[in-house]
Amino acid sequence: MQTLDLCELSKVDSILLDSVLKYSPSCAAFKNLSGQFVRVNSKFCHLFELTEQDVIGKMEVDIFQLDTSEDVNKIDQGIVEQSDFFEKEIEVFIKEELRSFVLIKFPWLTSQNQVCGIGCMLTEVTHVKWLEKNYGLAQKVIENSSEAVVFTDAQGLILDVNNAYQTITGYQREELIGKNPNVLKSGRHDRNFYQAMWAQIRAQGHWSGEVWDRRKNGEIYPKWLMINAMMDEEGNATGYVGIFSDLSDQKKAEEKLEELSFYDPLTHLPNRVLFHDRLSVGVSIAKREKHLLAVLLIDLDRFKVVNDSLGHNVGDELLELIAQRFLTLGRESDTVARLGGDEFAVLLPELSSAEDASVVAQNFIDSLQEPFCFGGHSINIGASIGVSIFPSDGADVDGLIKRAELALYKAKEQGRNTYQYFSQELQDAVFEQLEMEEEMRHAILNQQFTLYYQPKISLATNKITGMEALVRWIHPEKGLIPPDKFIPLAEESGLIISLGEWILQEACRATAEWVKKYDDKLVVAVNLSAKQFKSENLLRTIQNTLDTFQLDPKNIELEITESCVMENVEKALQTMKDFRDCRLRLAIDDFGTGYSSLGYLKQFPMNTLKIDRSFIMDLTPNSDDAAIVEVVILLADKLGLDVVAEGVETDAQLTFLRAQGCEYVQGYLLSRPLPADEFEVFLRDNV
Ligand code: C2E
Ligand code: CA
Ligand code: CA
Repeated sequence: MQTLDLCELSKVDSILLDSVLKYSPSCAAFKNLSGQFVRVNSKFCHLFELTEQDVIGKMEVDIFQLDTSEDVNKIDQGIVEQSDFFEKEIEVFIKEELRSFVLIKFPWLTSQNQVCGIGCMLTEVTHVKWLEKNYGLAQKVIENSSEAVVFTDAQGLILDVNNAYQTITGYQREELIGKNPNVLKSGRHDRNFYQAMWAQIRAQGHWSGEVWDRRKNGEIYPKWLMINAMMDEEGNATGYVGIFSDLSDQKKAEEKLEELSFYDPLTHLPNRVLFHDRLSVGVSIAKREKHLLAVLLIDLDRFKVVNDSLGHNVGDELLELIAQRFLTLGRESDTVARLGGDEFAVLLPELSSAEDASVVAQNFIDSLQEPFCFGGHSINIGASIGVSIFPSDGADVDGLIKRAELALYKAKEQGRNTYQYFSQELQDAVFEQLEMEEEMRHAILNQQFTLYYQPKISLATNKITGMEALVRWIHPEKGLIPPDKFIPLAEESGLIISLGEWILQEACRATAEWVKKYDDKLVVAVNLSAKQFKSENLLRTIQNTLDTFQLDPKNIELEITESCVMENVEKALQTMKDFRDCRLRLAIDDFGTGYSSLGYLKQFPMNTLKIDRSFIMDLTPNSDDAAIVEVVILLADKLGLDVVAEGVETDAQLTFLRAQGCEYVQGYLLSRPLPADEFEVFLRDNV
């Protein structure tokens, strides 16, 4: 290899070389033709932590501690002989860190174009490599992200979009590039919305929020959009990145959830929760604006009968049809809700006078006038309505609803298809009832109840064959309270169960004594309320009581009303059969006032029909009532049942009944209900 001494460099070449070394952004070194380093720049020394003296005069093999000089020599020889240059990416461990460089070797030429050595440039590309690698990764992530990503320039024109962006918007990349993303606008947001959004991006560099856009197919959809500005060092926006996800599915799920929590799934009317919410808002507004508001509680009459007799499917369908009719009434601002079961409610948020509510209430009642015809059924249903007015009846949600409930209760009591406003008297009456209920609890414990007995006489023998036990309440202050005043209340509050047990015990105790003393065929009639008749423990309670007083089942007759049986015929029939199997006697009380079908009557295992007092009351020959009584007596005879006429007060009635072949009678004419001791006297004289 020919060597060239450095002194052969011209002055100009040397100065030039110094400048290149000094200002080169890369590490640079020059070797002479013998392969020794003759010039090196400070960047080079710095990189390898060497001084200039360490490098000058050394070979590449020494500096980089290479095992062999073969490769270096071959490359260098090629450069010198072909005046060519060499470029290669290399990786070097520097302080245990692998760093990437581009190595360029080139012939070192003198001004006479003679090769005098080899120049080496080492440019670090470690971070470029890293970026390349990671940018590729980032791009892959963006491309495959389920969120839509869009890049725009500083003017907001689209530079690129990812796959998700195309899928969600329905547009192809080519259709979007160069366009403004506002091609997606749905028109749901006004100018102010977009102005505020851009104002925030300019001020803070980012914005996020819910936006409604339009897909290519025209469908409007919600999305959660984030926009970030990309800034240069001076803080100027060089472009924007928008990222969004499609909220349609989430919205649908939210709506479904809302539907479930605020609407009745059957009728799609607002439910109790939403009704209370609207009422609470309505009350606040009415308070502020000083106007009236009304709450109407609607309860369907006899819905339970429909449900029980025709089945729940028919019941459900009926409720849906009723809801549809209700929805056509009232104004748009009114809320019609279904609170549950057969209970509906209406909110009239703005009234000019309290009387206006009555027009609405009447409309709701009238809307049910026409029967509902579906699935081969024609169903007539009525409604009772309770009305409360803000602010006179209550100042808040609970107060107004409670008062409307009281009014509804009253409307129900008054007969069906009526509405009632809340009033103070109503409140007093209810208060009195509550008080009575409380007193009744104590009355059971304090033995304030007593039984009266009314004799039942056989018309064939004019003798007593039995007696009806009738309960009385001897109130310490109010005196004797008749059962009509407290039995319904006991029934409603559930107290009837314990009261009923006491009645049964007392009747059995007394009867067992009289049976022993006077007549072992004597039958005591004990009234059973509907709740008692339905109770699971009834039969066991009766048997236990009979056992306790050693009374034979033939000495007791249980009176149940027609309506109590008709409520659930199947169940009642089973209970009645169980009674018969235990040799207990059964009577149908108040016969003629309910609506038993003759078909059922034949199946019922019972012993006695008691003709209701109302038919006996106005008994005159050839009247309708006379005809009915006549037929019932005949019917009982055909079915092999005993028949008892109740409420016989006059001789005329008695004569008529006797003529028709009625077997037994009960009534004031023969005896009023008597306290036990007085009854015993009557019994002794009449057995
Ligand atoms: P009910 O079972 O129909 O009882 C007959 C009612 O008619 C009794 O009224 C009796 O006093 C009355 N009465 C009897 N003869 C005549 C008459 O000639 N003229 C008139 N105007 N009335 C007459 P009471 O004792 O006031 O009982 C009323 C209702 O209370 C009973 O009607 C029954 O449904 C219920 N009740 C009475 N005691 C009991 C009981 O111990 N348990 C249950 N669950 N209910 C009872
Ligand atoms: Ca009775
Ligand atoms: Ca009766």
